[in-house]
Amino acid sequence: MSEEAPRPAPARHRILVVDDERQTVSAVKHLLRRKYKVLGATRAQEALELLDQEPVSVVLCDQRMPEMTGDAFFAEARRRHPNTIRILITAYADIQALVRSINNGHIFGYVAKPWSPEELEHMVARAIEHWDVSELNRRMTRELADANQLLQKANDELKAFTHVVAHDLKEPLRTIAAYTQFMRGDLDPPLQPEGLHYLDGIQRCAEHLFRLIDDLMRFTEIDHIERALEPTELRYVVGKALEMLEGAVRDRGAEVQVADDLPVVQGDAGRLVLLFQNLISNGLKFNQSDPPRVEVGVVPGEGDTVEVFVRDNGIGIHHDYQQQIFEIFERLHARTEYPGTGAGLAIVRRIVELHGGAVVVESAPGNGSTFRLTLRRADAPR
Ligand code: ADP
Repeated sequence: MSEEAPRPAPARHRILVVDDERQTVSAVKHLLRRKYKVLGATRAQEALELLDQEPVSVVLCDQRMPEMTGDAFFAEARRRHPNTIRILITAYADIQALVRSINNGHIFGYVAKPWSPEELEHMVARAIEHWDVSELNRRMTRELADANQLLQKANDELKAFTHVVAHDLKEPLRTIAAYTQFMRGDLDPPLQPEGLHYLDGIQRCAEHLFRLIDDLMRFTEIDHIERALEPTELRYVVGKALEMLEGAVRDRGAEVQVADDLPVVQGDAGRLVLLFQNLISNGLKFNQSDPPRVEVGVVPGEGDTVEVFVRDNGIGIHHDYQQQIFEIFERLHARTEYPGTGAGLAIVRRIVELHGGAVVVESAPGNGSTFRLTLRRADAPR
């Protein structure tokens, strides 16, 4: 059934009564007119035209009508205006008509003939309540969809803006790099050691700026997951991350221990590799123990979640800074002490959040750090 286009909510609920007997239409009108605006029709065709013209919250229809039966009318009314609530008025004996109305017309309820005024009023009141709740639901869904669309647009614009800025910033940086290169080789007389020292400084700054721009772009690009999340072996993911870090592990003489029972999670393998690469490389980098140790393990989480942790025996993080390190470009150390741009943990947090999870850190200075992330368990391996 297609979505009905939103129609302005009536000031008073409109009720439509359809019955080929004029007296019945009048009786129902009389009964309900104090609370609602009541419209009447004695032919199904006329009723359908009324429904097309005015927003009607509830329609009541008699089953036995000469041109079109009540259940056939409801099937058509539902096709045209699925949001209007439908109530059948029928004799007890018409059980087949009732079944058809339920199946094809998705009626809200029925009133058996001969109906009592209280019964009819009560049924209409319940239908109106139902309409109000459904309408609120529809409005909220629409508002959410609108807000999502705006957010998506803002995100796209931000991404486009970042690309332009990144491109424009890189251009002069390339020129600076080229000039420093010329100054190193082409000057006559050549630069003295002091000049070369300054040139090294300029070059280091330019390279750092390049890395910052690249990381900023990488960060803004992780704003959604392209494909649906699928069952992903974490052992495979962590293995891939370690392949990328092979050099760093070897250079630091580090020990990396990966649990055998890493689960299969709902995930995006590429993004998860990036996540573990960041966490494990931090565990190696911010570490002065000999040997540096990093452990990747798992503990059961609540419901269908698992908690995966990356633990190191590194320098640790003071409690006061344990939130801010997840912000982009936040660092606690000078670059001369530990290299980096400060984008890694912001990327980690964004990836976990795109997986519907969260990341926290437990740490104390000098006592190593444990990053804990929740992910959703999947049943079947990829
Ligand atoms: P980067 O590694 O480029 O500095 P991150 O965003 O990955 O950036 O980390 C932000 C900061 O958090 C780091 O500069 C460091 O001060 C701190 N940090 C991250 N991981 C660890 C860790 N395992 N142990 C100690 N400090 C850490």
